[in-house]
Amino acid sequence: MDSINKLAELFKEFPGIGSRQAKRFVYYLLSRNSGYLENLAKLTLELKRQIKNCSSCFRFFPADAAGAAQCALCRDAARDSASLMIVARDADLEAIEKSHSYNGFYFVLGGTVPILEKEPEKKIRSKALTGLVKKRAAEGLKEIIIAASVNAEGENTADFVAKLLTPIIAQFNIKLSGLGRGLSTGTELEYSDADTIKNALKNRS
Ligand SMILES: [Zn+2]
Repeated sequence: MDSINKLAELFKEFPGIGSRQAKRFVYYLLSRNSGYLENLAKLTLELKRQIKNCSSCFRFFPADAAGAAQCALCRDAARDSASLMIVARDADLEAIEKSHSYNGFYFVLGGTVPILEKEPEKKIRSKALTGLVKKRAAEGLKEIIIAASVNAEGENTADFVAKLLTPIIAQFNIKLSGLGRGLSTGTELEYSDADTIKNALKNRS
């Protein structure tokens, strides 16, 4: 395989990218100067070195000189420790934060659970989630909000998470809610505007 096809194969692995788009990316790169390509290669290599997962919510955040294990949000003492919101991806967390309608903590699943998945616990950070919920429960957690996108896979993920957390929720008497009713069918959380998210949070059930 030549470089064009090899690179196109890599782009095809990106979310939502098919063969034709993958090829377009490669030809676009060929049209740019080597400074651009070097910068792209350099930043790509630096990503894993400079960005790490928060040890609490698991979102990605830039490592600082002090080597903090937790992101700024999880270290913020002004946030409400009675509330934990579970989202699929970093982009969902960012959409919620931008709406300024939630002041609790988060957990990022790092993916979703496809329907009929044989090993659903491997598709998301199941172990880290139950570990965090147990820890937060002992620290006064009162409510867990599952903020999934309103599509088949989002709902399947929400069902799996709810089932996974049932024993802990029962043990510590934690309220479990979802954004479902406040969002219309087909809504991707990531692309929802601030008002939609605010309403979904207000009408959670
Ligand atoms: Zn965090």
